[in-house]
Amino acid sequence: SARPDTDGAVRLTDTDAALARLSAVHKHYLTDPFIRHFVPRAHLQPPRPPLINIGTYVRSEGIDKLVEAWFSFTEQEGTQCQVVSLGAGSDTRFWRISTGPRKDLLRAYFEIDFAEITTKKAMAIRKSKELSVVLGKPEDIKIANGGTSLHAPKYHLLAGDLRQPPSDLLALLEPHLSPMYPTLLLFECVLVYISPQASSALIQGFVDFFERGAAVQGGHGVLGGIVYEMYGLEDSFGKVMKSNLMARNVSLPGADPYPTQASLSTRFLQHGFTIAKALTLRDIRRSYVDPAEQERISHLEMLDEIEELELVLGHYAITWGVKLPASATIKADWA
Ligand code: SAM
Repeated sequence: SARPDTDGAVRLTDTDAALARLSAVHKHYLTDPFIRHFVPRAHLQPPRPPLINIGTYVRSEGIDKLVEAWFSFTEQEGTQCQVVSLGAGSDTRFWRISTGPRKDLLRAYFEIDFAEITTKKAMAIRKSKELSVVLGKPEDIKIANGGTSLHAPKYHLLAGDLRQPPSDLLALLEPHLSPMYPTLLLFECVLVYISPQASSALIQGFVDFFERGAAVQGGHGVLGGIVYEMYGLEDSFGKVMKSNLMARNVSLPGADPYPTQASLSTRFLQHGFTIAKALTLRDIRRSYVDPAEQERISHLEMLDEIEELELVLGHYAITWGVKLPASATIKADWA
């Protein structure tokens, strides 16, 4: 069957994401002391072009701002929260949160990806003192399921296929995921690789889990979501982006039909989310990166093709939403 090959190509996109992040760190766009531990021979990796570095910066800052807003929201609620990262790859967010000012607000952090990716990640964690010390004492860190999973007091790395029935995926999480706490779902550059039906079933699976939890156990019932994805692939530039990926044997069922400005917030609203908003990286760079940072970034590297930058950034969007329980008296100003 063609599946193992195309899944292999999809998994390689994590290497791209990690190399882009490493490059943005080496070029001083971002600060992230953890990413180098996930990239073999990190110091030898060539930098990515300025346009990619800026894109990585805007994406990372945009998502960081939303995650920070999520933490202040849960702080106001006087509770801890959980984060579930789907298709987490080599993401370092758990380590950044756990060494930052919000660490006590985090109850548990989950990462799910293909077994090949989680096995590599678990090995990198075990090999690196800098990574494992953040997870807890050595005796509190447990490798499970033949090396594909890792559990620590607040961190759970799990192998799973996001296309499998959501009940199977939730069964993996359930021993550690509590419906009692507000929970943020992160889909950073992953939904394009699974069909719209599978994405929708996945989000609905979480909605059902937390609704049941709220009804049966008196749980908090608040669910947040962040999606980062390509969009607007139907125009001529979008078609080039899409065919570049297809040429690498990456299949993009999530781009059929293409996400559009109108469909972005539908990702959440169709599942009963209370609010959902979306911005392109172009909008975020123009209007949401503070001027001092804009200024700092503009001096890091030469970039003469500002039009090309805007064209590329205009083809990526961040969408976020929050689902409050029907009885909510809390404010929904997560924006
Ligand atoms: N979220 C990370 C980030 O932004 O740095 C990684 C993004 S990478 C472009 C896409 C990730 O999604 C890869 O690690 C890939 O293995 C994972 N992925 C794609 N399809 C998946 C599936 N069906 N099940 C589990 N993981 C999947």
